[in-house]
Amino acid sequence: MNTLLLTHRACLLHEPGDYHPECPDRLRAVLKALDTEEFADLIRDEAPQATPEQLSLAHPRHYVDAILAVRPAEGETLALDGDTIMSHGSAEAALRAAGAGVAAVDAVCRGEVRHAFCAVRPPGHHAEPGTPMGFCLFANAVIAARHAQQAHGVARVAILDFDVHHGNGTQACVKDDPSIFYGSTHQFPLYPGTGDRHETGMGNVVNAPLPPGADGTAFREAWQGGILPALDAFAPGLIVISAGFDAHARDPLAQLRVREADFAWLTDQLCALAERHCGGKVVSLLEGGYDLEALALSTAAHVRALMRA
Ligand SMILES: [Zn+2]
Repeated sequence: MNTLLLTHRACLLHEPGDYHPECPDRLRAVLKALDTEEFADLIRDEAPQATPEQLSLAHPRHYVDAILAVRPAEGETLALDGDTIMSHGSAEAALRAAGAGVAAVDAVCRGEVRHAFCAVRPPGHHAEPGTPMGFCLFANAVIAARHAQQAHGVARVAILDFDVHHGNGTQACVKDDPSIFYGSTHQFPLYPGTGDRHETGMGNVVNAPLPPGADGTAFREAWQGGILPALDAFAPGLIVISAGFDAHARDPLAQLRVREADFAWLTDQLCALAERHCGGKVVSLLEGGYDLEALALSTAAHVRALMRA
């Protein structure tokens, strides 16, 4: 059945500076990989801008207003912390990134499409309710999940995060909210330092840290042994994926040895679980991934799996 691809050229205009790993070329590599005959059946649409009210599903309104007010002049940047940097185009890019998740939820929950992938940046899973962090401004996955609850009456939403970094922001947003499940594999120890196994929220958070050097077998075992059974028991009405591809063996920011076939395997597992519980509803959002070739191959494998399920 059909899969929706949401993106927007404004996401290329968030420019954190030369040499910053979270660069516009990442999104160019992803879109190029999805611009082949194999992906001709993707339904393509432009990501709308999220509204401040939608952003407030994960953040206090004063935080939303403060971030959106940051508009450096063309060619200038403003560092919010050591690695979270805004340029002239960052606010609109962030609005489109969060808006893609909202629009993807609308399309999937209305039954217009079965799955959706949001090729957007900046990523979102490090953004805490009141603090931008780790290249992230707004918690895109949490905003999508809460929008599904508020606008479509979905009772329980699960966010699954296979980015190599722990989604401290997502966890901070949902740890006291048992209506949202958060499951994550990530390298540990590694930035941001959270994601230890005993961080369990209200029983709705499952962290499966992996040591540096862990390969695809360890990655699959972490999902199969811990997160997927808990997710099955949670019985989600929608699955949101924080799809970061920096656990790939080629990625320069971490030391896991996951391959694109492992990302495809996990995507298959999540789609099958969605099929059992919620008519197959899956919304996936791009997070990290900093080796351009690995990012392109991994995203293609992920979207290929979404399209065949
Ligand atoms: Zn990451």
